[in-house]
Amino acid sequence: MAARRLPRPDRAAIAAELREIAARLRLSGDNPFRARAYAAGAEAVESLSDAQLARRLAAGTLTEVPGIGQALAAVIGEIATAGESSVAARLRAEAPAAVLELSQIRGISPERARRLHDALGIGGIDELEAAARAGRVREVKGFGPKTEKSILSAIDAYRHRTDAIRLVDARDLAAALAAFVGRQPGVIAADVAGPVRRWQEAIDELTVVGAVGGADEVPGVLDRAARFPPLARVESRAPDHLVGRLADGARIRVRVVPESRRGVAMIEETGPAAHVAGLRQRARERGVDWERLDATGEGAVYRALELPEVPPEARDAPEPVALDDLVTLADIRGIVHCHTDQSDGRHTLEQMARAADARGFRYLTVTDHSPTASYAGGLTVDRLRRQWDEIARVQENVRVRLLRGTESDILADGALDYPDDVLAQLDVIIASIHGRYHMTAPAMTARLLTAMRLPVFKIWGHPLGQLVLRRPPIACDVEAVLDALAGARGAIEISGDPYRLDLPPAWIPAARQRGLSFVISVDAHAIGDLDNLEYGVAMARRGGVRRGEVLNALPFETFRAAVRP
Ligand SMILES: [Zn+2]
Ligand SMILES: [Zn+2]
Repeated sequence: MAARRLPRPDRAAIAAELREIAARLRLSGDNPFRARAYAAGAEAVESLSDAQLARRLAAGTLTEVPGIGQALAAVIGEIATAGESSVAARLRAEAPAAVLELSQIRGISPERARRLHDALGIGGIDELEAAARAGRVREVKGFGPKTEKSILSAIDAYRHRTDAIRLVDARDLAAALAAFVGRQPGVIAADVAGPVRRWQEAIDELTVVGAVGGADEVPGVLDRAARFPPLARVESRAPDHLVGRLADGARIRVRVVPESRRGVAMIEETGPAAHVAGLRQRARERGVDWERLDATGEGAVYRALELPEVPPEARDAPEPVALDDLVTLADIRGIVHCHTDQSDGRHTLEQMARAADARGFRYLTVTDHSPTASYAGGLTVDRLRRQWDEIARVQENVRVRLLRGTESDILADGALDYPDDVLAQLDVIIASIHGRYHMTAPAMTARLLTAMRLPVFKIWGHPLGQLVLRRPPIACDVEAVLDALAGARGAIEISGDPYRLDLPPAWIPAARQRGLSFVISVDAHAIGDLDNLEYGVAMARRGGVRRGEVLNALPFETFRAAVRP
């Protein structure tokens, strides 16, 4: 009996083709679920080993793999045998590669990409850039000199994009990787290190340190770590570590060391490089051999160097921070910046208040959106007054003290969103920008300075309007605005909303130097968001914020007096 020849499928090529189909379907405006099914199929293929994939193809059992249905199994079979699927071929014929490439630029829809391609014969991003610089794009119907300019800046943004992912996403992935490494035989401990441990907002690497009993166990554990299911490929391998890429582009790094070297490895892998270099320098000066420093934990390393242990999130600070005074989660007594179902929150005031009560908080500011934020159900004056009644009613059933507030839009001209007599009846006003982000820096600065001159202006909400890796900070003269806020004796928000993390920690020292106070907020839109506090506190600690500088670390009456308009 002749042995049946198994097709030798290229796992990476199949996944790449499935992803291309997903991208093209998305572009063509096809049913988004279909696109997602192909993307999920790519991940499912990557979760198999080459041998498993070959076996399942031969046996026709691909549909037993979660994420692979009959249609998808047929397409995978087609790619494995013919090298290309008819679905992909049809989509490629519909939209040439140029159109696909061009439509990756922000502001260029597939339809506009096609027009550029047809009118100017533009075959890719480089050619588009050249055409825009030469002023040829404006000749195409529907494009003008202004679009030309925005195309150039969008191309620039595209070129500078990274495979970085948000901290909130990276934390889950890194924890999953650590758990996977930790489950391998012989591993005593596996911990997340790297930028995730330092609470950086954008993460370019998921780093895990595994500890084993002896050096001879290291290679086996690395072999098994390479089977982490979301890992698409291993890019490099050294005696004590490996570097690889997840299917979605994020880089991972796993280092495995004998337990006696765990302390040093955790410091090295947590970084940043400047902090590690400082410690090595200190070791040299004291005659401590860094390469032979035995320590199962980081504390022992700092002790050997006669230094206080620096928490990971403070290791990036440009100047040493006051370790004993750094604000902690336990210092926070009140929840600031909380939405309810009256605007765009998910839970009622009573539910939010009870959740804050259960977590032991002493006070909570009810700050729903103002009328201009109509897309977020901003409250009219009438609805705001009715909310005051609701606050009074709920207050009878909870211990946490409820404060009447608003998150008022800072309008384009710098005014706030409610009449003065209404604002005067509030306990707390957070003033934030929610629209018109794209002003020139001088206009934006003037807008903010005008707002800060208002006597009711107390708390500057998510100050720079950034969304981590999605929307850059607003353009304005931050120093001048901080000066004005200090002059107005206002406070600045450090938002723990993991999608914002704003004020960005890099600006916190500038605010501290001016003597500004902070509120560490949650910007809660649901009960679970109360846990955003952990992020806010971590950002504050990165910036060296002391507990005495945080308004919502104050007792209730003092807080209320401090924020009163
Ligand atoms: Zn807001
Ligand atoms: Zn908000």
